[in-house]
Amino acid sequence: VLPSQAALDTLDWTKGDGLLPAVVQDVDSLQVLMLGYVNAASLQATLETGHMTFFSRGRQRLWTKGEQSGNVLAVQSIAVDCDADTLLVRARPAGPTCHTGAESCFPQAAKDFIGQLDQLVATREAQRPAGSYTTSLFEGGIRRIAQKVGEEGVETALAAVAQGDEELLGEASDLVFHLLVLLRARGLSLQDVRTLLESRHR
Ligand code: AMP
Ligand code: ZN
Ligand code: ZN
Ligand code: ZN
Repeated sequence: VLPSQAALDTLDWTKGDGLLPAVVQDVDSLQVLMLGYVNAASLQATLETGHMTFFSRGRQRLWTKGEQSGNVLAVQSIAVDCDADTLLVRARPAGPTCHTGAESCFPQAAKDFIGQLDQLVATREAQRPAGSYTTSLFEGGIRRIAQKVGEEGVETALAAVAQGDEELLGEASDLVFHLLVLLRARGLSLQDVRTLLESRHR
């Protein structure tokens, strides 16, 4: 969800001499990846290309993250903070975001575990490593995955009315995992579910 022109027009460029900080978060794991600065031109380039583009204070020029490494940040949404002087960007990274090779410039940044699992499922789908159960699900095709989700849904429902907490949690976990695989097999993700739930919440 990219900001409207109205939201962009409210941005307060005065405090930082034409630069605003932009916090970049992984759209799937919600891990904070890095912080950079944007000016009006880099923000416009970001919106036009869909790749996060900063203004490099060191080099005094527009810098598209990944321009050399290939580890671009595909922007999925941009939010503006309460007093319109900071951006929160959600992006899908093509590779490690930190120049050290780490996923995040803040290695200690917390991740949402289900989001992290969703990321792993996406990696399994792309790379199909042999011997992986997730790979075997993708290889089995959408009908097989849909059948698994149906079975786990029924098992969850049965556990809820006839079994203990341990069994219910086990079935619910099976259901969530297979649901992540089903969504990915259709080219969708947990983030799409989050976005829809958030939109209903308003
Ligand atoms: P890249 O944009 O990934 O092609 O990297 C180009 C150069 O930008 C690197 O050699 C670093 O000097 C710098 N750089 C890359 N990633 C970061 C980052 N996350 N934070 C700060 N500087 C970075
Ligand atoms: Zn602020
Ligand atoms: Zn870094
Ligand atoms: Zn089960």
